[in-house]
Amino acid sequence: MDADVLVVGGGPAGAATALLLARRGHRVALVDRARFPRPKPCGEYLNPSAVAVLERLGLAGEAAASGVRLSGMFVAGPDGTSIWAPFASGHGMLVPRERLDLVLLRAAAAAGADVREEVRVDALRPADRGRPPLVEARTRRGPVRLWARLVVGADGLRSVVARARGPLAPVRGGRYTLGARFEGIEASAPRGDLHLGRGWYAGAALYGGGAGNVVIAVERAMLRRGSGALDRFFMDACRRLPLLAAMTARARRTTPFASVGPLGFARRPVAASGVLLVGDAAGTIDPMTGEGLALALRSAELAAGAAAACLAGAPWRQTLRGYERALARASEDTWRLGRLLQWIVRHPALAGWLFRRLADDPAGAAALLAAVSGLRPARDVLSAGFAARLAMGVR
Ligand SMILES: Cc1cc2nc3c(=O)[nH]c(=O)nc-3n(C[C@H](O)[C@H](O)[C@H](O)COP(=O)(O)OP(=O)(O)OC[C@H]3O[C@@H](n4cnc5c(N)ncnc54)[C@H](O)[C@@H]3O)c2cc1C
Repeated sequence: MDADVLVVGGGPAGAATALLLARRGHRVALVDRARFPRPKPCGEYLNPSAVAVLERLGLAGEAAASGVRLSGMFVAGPDGTSIWAPFASGHGMLVPRERLDLVLLRAAAAAGADVREEVRVDALRPADRGRPPLVEARTRRGPVRLWARLVVGADGLRSVVARARGPLAPVRGGRYTLGARFEGIEASAPRGDLHLGRGWYAGAALYGGGAGNVVIAVERAMLRRGSGALDRFFMDACRRLPLLAAMTARARRTTPFASVGPLGFARRPVAASGVLLVGDAAGTIDPMTGEGLALALRSAELAAGAAAACLAGAPWRQTLRGYERALARASEDTWRLGRLLQWIVRHPALAGWLFRRLADDPAGAAALLAAVSGLRPARDVLSAGFAARLAMGVR
């Protein structure tokens, strides 16, 4: 393997980074421990900002061929009240992760990236005194050592590359998710749903024809109180939300459950000597508002720009720091708004009040969705004016 940039992880962040660098003519290699297509627990919702990156990559059409297009989001409250909020611009998508990730990875390989599957990275030694970063990995045939001028850590939530700087900070109060694919879901049309419970939520990617991917995200306490088999716990949770209960009453599970957690907000230092982090490796958010994929793809664009500048001779230290600042700016709104909405959902009385106000104010709901989707600045809805609009109906 002979490359200037080694990308660890072939999910959306890693594949997009490798694709962009390969298209610029750089020698890039990518390793992933999995063989693709591989399952990835996810709500499978791409917001309009994520779709916009796929369009810039020229891959939106190919991704959409196995998914559905969304013109807005359906949000249901614990009492069965619902809101349909259209996107202010662009469109969203639902795409099975097996397909989305494969489309991106194949595009990276087609652009010239050296893609190696079933290579598990165990450790990273950052660059030191003129020595390039060193990656220790294992293949089916045994251990291998890999060098590159720059290593991009795109290895997700529990990133080995991020851990080279020390143990990952624990996620406090994070939620645990449980999800699977189903058939026999009752829904009139393909749709992206968020169902809010009291302190927890469920996401449903409804592909049409009764097929769907349903994920519940619950707090540890609810998981502990649950008894018996996962199926019973899952269906009991669905039954607690009137609209989801009706939709899933006759649904049959078609894949094993996948569980992840704890999931919450955790930021990491994203640039060190000869190393950049992208996607979930750089920082994770609770998936309730569905922004992980948009951030992963956006971080890939920013990281590819920084990596290309370094390889072209720009000063590394400043360039990598510049990436850190650019990523912080790109994710700032998502973090502020995401954390606030999470806090509200954990306070059921407040969440119920907000939900009813938004149900009576479709334009307000659309403005909130636009801010959550990165289509307008978060400050528009974190303003006194927006609060007054909700509190007093001032429009
Ligand atoms: C339950 C759940 C639901 C979600 N729902 C949504 C949603 O609806 N919309 C949304 O936008 N976001 C959602 N997210 C977040 C989204 O899935 C992530 O933000 C996104 O997958 C990040 O992409 P990534 O490329 O950084 O990481 P990943 O997609 O996790 O890819 C990381 C890759 O690294 C590889 N890897 C890991 N460790 C190693 C190693 N040691 N050696 C080699 N390879 C390695 C893995 O095999 C994997 O292919 C959800 C997350 C969860 C957990």
